[in-house]
Amino acid sequence: MKAALPLLLCSFLAAAAAPDLSLQGQPLQQRFGAEDHDANPSSHDVLSLPDGSLLVANGAGVLHYDGSHWDLIELPGFSPARALALDRDGRIHVGGVDQFGRLDIDATGAFRYVDLRGEFGVDGEQATFGIIWDVLATPRGLFFRSNEALFFLGYAGERERWPLGLDYRRVFAIGDTLYTRLHGHGFGRIDAGGFRLAPGGEAFAERPLSEIFARPDDLVLVSREGIYLSHSKGLSRLSGPADPVLAARDPAPGLRLADGGYLIGTDGGEVIHLDAGFGVVGIHALGPYSILRLDHDREGGVWVSTEGDLVRLRLPSPWSTFSPREGLSGSVLDTAFHNGSLWVGTSVGVFRSARRNGQIAFRPAIDTSLEAGTLLAAAGGLLVGDRDGVLWHSDRDGSTLRVLEQDSTFLLQASERFPGRVYALGNDEIAVLAQQGVHWKTLARWPLEGISLTEIFEADAGRLWVDDLRGAPQRWTLDESGLRIEARELFGPEQGLHWDPAMGSILYRLDGGLYAVCGQRVYRFVGERFEPYEGPPFSLFERPFSMGLTETEHGDFAYAERQLFRRLPGTGDWQLAPLGSGLARGFFGMKTDADGKLRIKTWGGLLQFDPEVDESPLMPLSVQLAGWELRRADGRSHRLPLRGAPDLALADGDALLFDFRMPTMEPGVEFRQRIDGLDGSWSEWSPARRPALTLRAPGPGEYLLRVEGRTRNGRLGEPLAFAFAVRPAWWQTPWARIGLGCAVLLLLLLGAQLLARLRYRQFRAANRRLEAKIAERTLELKQANAKLAELATEDSLTGVANRRALEQAMAREWERCAELRQPLSLVMIDVDHFKQFNDQHGHLEGDQQLVRVAEKLDEMVRPVRELLARFGGEEFAVVLPGTHLEEAIQRAEAMRASFDHPGFPTTVSVGVASEVPAAGRTPTDLLRDADTALYAAKRQGRNRVVATSR
Ligand code: GH3
Ligand code: MG
Ligand code: MG
Repeated sequence: MKAALPLLLCSFLAAAAAPDLSLQGQPLQQRFGAEDHDANPSSHDVLSLPDGSLLVANGAGVLHYDGSHWDLIELPGFSPARALALDRDGRIHVGGVDQFGRLDIDATGAFRYVDLRGEFGVDGEQATFGIIWDVLATPRGLFFRSNEALFFLGYAGERERWPLGLDYRRVFAIGDTLYTRLHGHGFGRIDAGGFRLAPGGEAFAERPLSEIFARPDDLVLVSREGIYLSHSKGLSRLSGPADPVLAARDPAPGLRLADGGYLIGTDGGEVIHLDAGFGVVGIHALGPYSILRLDHDREGGVWVSTEGDLVRLRLPSPWSTFSPREGLSGSVLDTAFHNGSLWVGTSVGVFRSARRNGQIAFRPAIDTSLEAGTLLAAAGGLLVGDRDGVLWHSDRDGSTLRVLEQDSTFLLQASERFPGRVYALGNDEIAVLAQQGVHWKTLARWPLEGISLTEIFEADAGRLWVDDLRGAPQRWTLDESGLRIEARELFGPEQGLHWDPAMGSILYRLDGGLYAVCGQRVYRFVGERFEPYEGPPFSLFERPFSMGLTETEHGDFAYAERQLFRRLPGTGDWQLAPLGSGLARGFFGMKTDADGKLRIKTWGGLLQFDPEVDESPLMPLSVQLAGWELRRADGRSHRLPLRGAPDLALADGDALLFDFRMPTMEPGVEFRQRIDGLDGSWSEWSPARRPALTLRAPGPGEYLLRVEGRTRNGRLGEPLAFAFAVRPAWWQTPWARIGLGCAVLLLLLLGAQLLARLRYRQFRAANRRLEAKIAERTLELKQANAKLAELATEDSLTGVANRRALEQAMAREWERCAELRQPLSLVMIDVDHFKQFNDQHGHLEGDQQLVRVAEKLDEMVRPVRELLARFGGEEFAVVLPGTHLEEAIQRAEAMRASFDHPGFPTTVSVGVASEVPAAGRTPTDLLRDADTALYAAKRQGRNRVVATSR
């Protein structure tokens, strides 16, 4: 107990000195289940490989994960994998059911299982030693432990096998020594297969032991009944704050952290985080499944295998989260660190943190009128802005008093120029508050007059900058008291700032300068003017108007909904903050609280950055060729060696498939590649996929495949350069080609000559036949055309009926009118002086004029029984069945009149004839009469109608 005392004191002191200052949320988590890897839900062990990828002893075999793809390596007999270990030389060893062996990586990059049971003379049917629970690597060799036997495979070739009893629960390797706890006996070491009780080890005769951690001078034993230290003199109990935490749970295996702290899993699916002095840092609930094993990865992550899933935690990490799991409800709107607690304003109220058994829990603390959008710590209490104004929550008696009625107070901002004053920004005014004794007084209220502001900045000489989501930024000049606005200046195009009426202007302060973002445009305020500005951090965002910017002593942060950039103090570079989790997305506000921690509001809850916690250094990334294969045109494929150029001879239809990877547990790996010797240009960046690249049989030559990889957060990997050569096939060698070329050429020449002769003869015969046929066809065509012309009833120029149709119509209507004893009228129309028109305007224009005449006439003819026809030349005829002479004259007059106006260049003369068809008369007689009348009209001076009648 002597040795334990100082430690004990230490841990008590640590627990008392920093209770709530180490306010940590839950670590960022990623969860992987059967839906991700497609194997068995339960995973018994995890092992991080030196290249950054991960192996998992899964119920279906060994899983390999490179951060993008899961691969299952099956064991003989489809045995589940139970335990994994790396030996001194980095070789992988696996234990399964009646099964243990080595996982080698062959020359093609594929995993290959090597059965090691034969080394001990057990094989096949004889292998009935059961589950290998532990694979332990020690400086001398490897131990495989089942309940029945312990196998030892020494680096110097030793092979030993000892029988074991069934009482072993777990065996631990510390250096060269194996430790275990035997039920009924206690804690001790295994020597040459035998058990030797450690000094004081009998204390563990009835007490289960869940984990052992090695320290330079002693061993840390973790049990449900607390932490014990084992050293050469005996065993001592170390009481401390972890006791109640362990007592309330069933501790399971754990992991020593790089910072000296400890993680201890539990059967209830929690991870207990202890610091190096065994103080409780936090308890993280991972889920419902019992925790089986833990391992570090090379990027600041801890992998936890459970009975139902795999969880990756960022631990230790400056990043942590608070969410509804810790008792917060509503969306997080603001935070304040005050009076030893974290206060969180949400859409439903104000919550205050408390610590219980190492866990942070939030409880409702202040009744508000919803939307506790802004918190401000002041002397003796906390100001809260809500939907109805400002509340004052007093530390002294815990009372809450409304100190300002205002419409939706969204920001409480302490004045930098007037200590003790607070600006309360509401929807339609800014109120200036000041603390007077235990009360708050309103010193001034400035109406906003339509401005919609986001923040105010106090400039030098009593001036305030105010932005406006609906307009130009303003600068207000205050009087000496700082309570009256003497002048409001607007900054617009005249000062160089072209604000966007739709988006207004948003002001940002950075490095002592003032910036204005107006839609997509960014300006910097220099010498009373705004000048366009194109640099970061604004240029990092597609939509700079939706970004936030916070300056802290631990670096500056710029963020939009989905991205968070950080600029470390003293550097000019903005870099994406690697959060390593898909959870922490959707940033919408950020501030540094009085406890020095940075708190970021996200859609999922509250994200915390604790600058006191060191970020684990990130392993450099590199792009590797995981494998490549040749796929033949017939679908058969085989893997190719990664080293030593294979003899590649490709045929058309063959393809080369490449798989590259950049193992990292950070999400969103992307690659781009180029092949020197082929087209040599970089491809677009694209997400990791399988196969990563398919190349259709490139011709013979030397190639260099170059691949660059990066993560979504902008980490670049060491690029891959992989040289390969394609050997020409025999017919592709230069001499074969020349010879083949000559032969082909000769053949072609001969063939061509033969062909030409043959073709010439054929051509002449064909020509003769063709000529005869053409002559024949021409004759036929002529006859057909003549026949067609005969049959045609439409005038080709004007589109109205032709003379032939006129004659048919007259014959038809003559018969019908005769039958019905109705009159048939005919109107003949001739264009006046058309010869002259042709002479003046040309024959083509004459044609067009005829078309116009026909169109005009056509409008005046009723389509059903009446007919307009071109009689010939510039003469038209209209057949009017059932129309008396008087009516026909009226119609004719209307037609004539329609041409008789200054806008139309030609007039017409019209002859009208009408008769009831009678025996002894023919349609030709009627035609002749109409023509006579027309002739009369011409003689009488043209542009008139003359009729004859019988
Ligand atoms: P009048 O008033 O006495 O009828 O005088 P006119 O010049 O119209 O009569 P004439 O019979 O002396 O001349 C008819 C002219 O019509 C002759 C010919 O050039 C023209 N003509 C006939 N058919 C067509 C045709 O299809 N297109 C064109 N552009 N002109 C035509
Ligand atoms: Mg004429
Ligand atoms: Mg004429």
